[in-house]
Amino acid sequence: MAAIESPPTHIDMAVGQSNEQLRRLEETVGLRPLFTSRGARWAYFERWQSAQVAGVELYAAPDVAIYHQHKWVLVRIQFRSPTHPPFSQQLEHLLMVHWAMAQPGFPNDPEAYAIKVVRWNRSRWLEHHLNTTSGLLKQALSLVHHDRQEMQWLHRSTLADPQLSSIPLASDERTCEGCHHRRGCPAKNGLAKARRDQEQVLESMIQSDETKSANTA
Ligand code: SF4
Repeated sequence: MAAIESPPTHIDMAVGQSNEQLRRLEETVGLRPLFTSRGARWAYFERWQSAQVAGVELYAAPDVAIYHQHKWVLVRIQFRSPTHPPFSQQLEHLLMVHWAMAQPGFPNDPEAYAIKVVRWNRSRWLEHHLNTTSGLLKQALSLVHHDRQEMQWLHRSTLADPQLSSIPLASDERTCEGCHHRRGCPAKNGLAKARRDQEQVLESMIQSDETKSANTA
């Protein structure tokens, strides 16, 4: 009598998929020097390793840095990625160069670096290079300063009005697509709806302020 096999559990399937994802990572062009060249110079980092850059504590460590063809190739590995990564995410990848230049033992010269992004999308690894021009590197730092200002503004506004309904929203729906906070965000049902809701809250606050002024005039 043939043995009856129990169907694989979700956990077994997830483990199998993860193993396959990791196996295929070894075949990517970006990581190939790591697995094929003997004596390749490389280093890996934890993302919580920060660096002081332009007065900001920057968490932008690459996942791996490989010395290849006279450059340090800073590799970002994304195990999940949106189909159309937003431009802001590309600028975030460029911060790896600023991070590396602030590390002892790495060159303080943007020309000494190349950036490679290896990202998982629709069951395959996609790879692309990013240019590290001085203009783009400046834009990446401006993004950091802008984000810091937004955080300060958010902190002040939540102290004054501790409701999620008043938080600043993303400017583009595509930014929300890959956002891990979406389920708890006012934009969980779409950015346009969240904006309308915020406008209504704002209008009602203005009206109630006007009513209060009229009553006390
Ligand atoms: S889902 Fe919310 S927190 Fe995430 S990017 Fe969109 S607006 Fe920002």
